[in-house]
Amino acid sequence: MDRRRRSRVVSLAGVLIALLVLLGPIAPVAAWQATPEATPAVSGAGDHPFIFFAADGARQDLIDRYIEAAALPTYADLAANGVQGENGLLQAFPPNTGTGWATLSTGTWPGEHGSMNNTFFRTGEPDFASSTRAFEPGILQADTLGQAAERAGQTVVAVEWAGARAYDPALQGPVVDYRSFYSDRGVLANYDVPGQPAGADFFGLTYQRVDLGDADGWTNVPESFSPAQQQQLLVTGNPGTAESNPDRAFDLYIYDSTDDDTLNYDRVLIAPGLLAGDDATPLAETEGTVGKDGATAVADLAAGDWADIKVTLTGEAEGQTAGFHLKAIDIAPDLSQFRVYYTSIARANAAYNGCDDEPGCAEPLGFAETINAEFPSAVGADFAPLEAGVIDEATYVEQGLLGTANSESYLRYIVDTLGVQPDLLLLGTGVTDEFSHQFLGLVSPTEADGNANPFFDDLNADGTTDGLVDAREGYIQSAYEAADTLLGAGRELVTGANVFATADHGFAPAYWAVNAGELLAEAGIVDVAQGGNCTVSPPIESTVGTPDPEAPPVGAAAKACWAGATAAIYLNLVDREPGGVVPEEDYDVVREQIVAAFEGLTDPAYGDRPVVAEVFLNEELRDVAGTDALHPSRSGDVVVVLNPPYQFDAATPGEVIAPSQFFGQHGYLPDLLNLDANINMYAAFLAAGPGIAQGETPLPGIQAIDLAPTAAFLLDVPGPHQARGEILYDILANGGQLRQVTILNVTDFHGQIVPLFASADDLEDENANNASFAVGGAQALKAWFNAYRAVAPDGAIVIAAGDAIGATPPISNYFQDLPAIEMMNLIGFDADALGNHNFDIGWEFMFGTIAPLAEFPYLSANLVTEDGSDPAAPASTTPVAGTPVAGPAGFAPSAVFEFNGVELGLIGFSNTDIPQLTRQGSLGPYRVADPVAAINAEAERLRGEGVEAIVAFGHVGATGGDLANPTGPLVDLAGQTVGVDAVVGD
Ligand SMILES: [Zn+2]
Repeated sequence: MDRRRRSRVVSLAGVLIALLVLLGPIAPVAAWQATPEATPAVSGAGDHPFIFFAADGARQDLIDRYIEAAALPTYADLAANGVQGENGLLQAFPPNTGTGWATLSTGTWPGEHGSMNNTFFRTGEPDFASSTRAFEPGILQADTLGQAAERAGQTVVAVEWAGARAYDPALQGPVVDYRSFYSDRGVLANYDVPGQPAGADFFGLTYQRVDLGDADGWTNVPESFSPAQQQQLLVTGNPGTAESNPDRAFDLYIYDSTDDDTLNYDRVLIAPGLLAGDDATPLAETEGTVGKDGATAVADLAAGDWADIKVTLTGEAEGQTAGFHLKAIDIAPDLSQFRVYYTSIARANAAYNGCDDEPGCAEPLGFAETINAEFPSAVGADFAPLEAGVIDEATYVEQGLLGTANSESYLRYIVDTLGVQPDLLLLGTGVTDEFSHQFLGLVSPTEADGNANPFFDDLNADGTTDGLVDAREGYIQSAYEAADTLLGAGRELVTGANVFATADHGFAPAYWAVNAGELLAEAGIVDVAQGGNCTVSPPIESTVGTPDPEAPPVGAAAKACWAGATAAIYLNLVDREPGGVVPEEDYDVVREQIVAAFEGLTDPAYGDRPVVAEVFLNEELRDVAGTDALHPSRSGDVVVVLNPPYQFDAATPGEVIAPSQFFGQHGYLPDLLNLDANINMYAAFLAAGPGIAQGETPLPGIQAIDLAPTAAFLLDVPGPHQARGEILYDILANGGQLRQVTILNVTDFHGQIVPLFASADDLEDENANNASFAVGGAQALKAWFNAYRAVAPDGAIVIAAGDAIGATPPISNYFQDLPAIEMMNLIGFDADALGNHNFDIGWEFMFGTIAPLAEFPYLSANLVTEDGSDPAAPASTTPVAGTPVAGPAGFAPSAVFEFNGVELGLIGFSNTDIPQLTRQGSLGPYRVADPVAAINAEAERLRGEGVEAIVAFGHVGATGGDLANPTGPLVDLAGQTVGVDAVVGD
């Protein structure tokens, strides 16, 4: 209403209001201002809890296959009693974990939620070598379903829903999300494990190659029927967390438990040991530990057994419980081979912020401590020991399955013991992703181009098959079974729920790693190949603070940040990066060099077949297979996507293309599908529950952004705020009765034909450059509205709630705002309201010049003359959208629009303070009457004519509160209207 509001044009590039209307009785939703006579919410919405389940990397075709094999009872039940997407759904680009989960959570694409990849760069960081991980706190720039549900007063529980711990504001309900690591992991062996220590060194694992000795000094141990042996296992603290977790020793007592006159060792007993001092002379006393005491044993294992060993952290984490798992992999009867494997000491990340009044939160055992002390220690699949060759495939798989079993224990504790009944359960598992990474390429006989896969059942591609296809197929299936079991537990605990079972991405076989940094070096773009993901070599110091304009720029010109098959290449651009070295005028030249380097990449081992699927320039990321991956400051300047079986992770230093032990990958083009080659980048999607339809035929066209808004609809909560997807009527039990009324609104346009500028990130370092980017403007608005109009199933209208003219920039103002109206015609506005700025020049100009030029009606029900007369201003003669209702010249109280058989009455209203905000006399014969009475009268009249839904819009604001609970004159007005389904303000 005043000039300061002009700034809102930028943030309100477009406001989407989707009303769902039930045929017959009218039922709007998403309206916080529901009025007495507006009809009740859609039957069924909000009556049932909701389970949002994601199995990382789960594919629809594999779920279908395992359902066929009767291995997935929970998924089978969903499939039989609900609906599924045709080959699941389309995920965001790149279809990787860091983007996919965020897209499911927010209902919008990475271009808007800002989680661009598992690892990415935020341009403007003071240090060009820095990088950002997807699930770091505060990274998401869009609202999530969990936050929306909590704002609406619902109870949310999140167990292994990736990223839930990093929401800002934090979830108040119980959250268990991944784990923190406090020690090394590795093996102790008394024989030379093949490939060691090179494999362990490469992956940063510990390889303790030892000899066993005769046991001495032990007490309270079982009798050994062969001479007992001993060793000591060291579990070394991580340098970064040494304060919380010191190095630890565990004494191993290896013995023969069978009294059979045979040398057949079969067990190892494990007890906390005394750590040798640095000089290896005195034994350092660990408090309460005497060493070599069977009475303090933490495990007594046969070969193949796992132990779960708890430890108590120190320092900052004093008294907190963490733990690790240990497996006796080899106990040869003659001890020719003895090997134990230990996982990292870890602690589950758990929080229950809203638990002050709940049981189970009180000290000394808070929620996080209970989760870690009373339940199996936090663990999950770990590719490194497998790829390093220090453990076998079965051990890897067992470890992964331990993790998923943990999730079920945590969930049962939260629901059964703490008594938390979630309205929304966010539940996930990573095991499907992990096992697919390790085995998919080993069980896929054929490549996309028809070639035989040299790694099919042949880990080393040495021509000798492993004979493990069935075993490895079984491993992948076991991950899906674990996911099925976890989801089954969720459904058992949260009864009567509507369920979505989906994924963050699909999978393809992979076994060749491409070294993106090496390619940049070979192309001469950087001098030295970068030493790791998203970094530079040699490290460069920011030039901030060295204001010598003559100093030549130093440092790498570019770097690559990758995950799976997608690499984003960022230029170290002058002005954008605080230590930039690439001048702006060279931007396109360097980008073209990068494009050429990658586009030309072929694989000589395969007759120079192409390795790269597509290279995108930054600006082309706006539409990747229909998804939006263009973020103003976080997208790469060039983005490269590979073809399977190539990918970027775990590249071999110095080699552009080399074998990789990742046998499955994601991050290819999101619509990549070739089942003959076991390639499917789509994510699974099944839904079932009391609010979900039953359908035999899989539904095409579902996108990952659709799930959060549909889930919010089923929960009957507003939001998430930035959700861009469609509510999926077709999957709803009552979907056939619904029509969607899509209203696109921008207010206070103020003739902003040209863009404004805003920064797209909030880098906190004082040396950072939060660069500004063009926002809004007519060109952007039209594209934005077109995108929404294109997907609105029952049609859309575009409206402005007043003040589209007046207080405009020179490009419009200089021409008396006629350009603003012409631009609104081109954008395709369907109606505008009348605010104070509409009368800056005066009523004659508004109704005599502006209104006739507009190809849309101006609407106001409360702009009236004293005697109800129709002053002689010229009426618009141009065609208008909708059907103008008879009224004073130049404007009408309302207009009626039709949406697939449903009539919507749109009533305009004006702000009552127009006389105070404009010069005297500018309203001429008009005055602004009480909007509530005028709206109610017009609504009654329209309903009398059979109009089924009513929306009022005008130049009045919600001036306080927040998006979830707004306050102010618009909210007051909405509360007093009768028979109005939604109110749109400024
Ligand atoms: Zn993955």
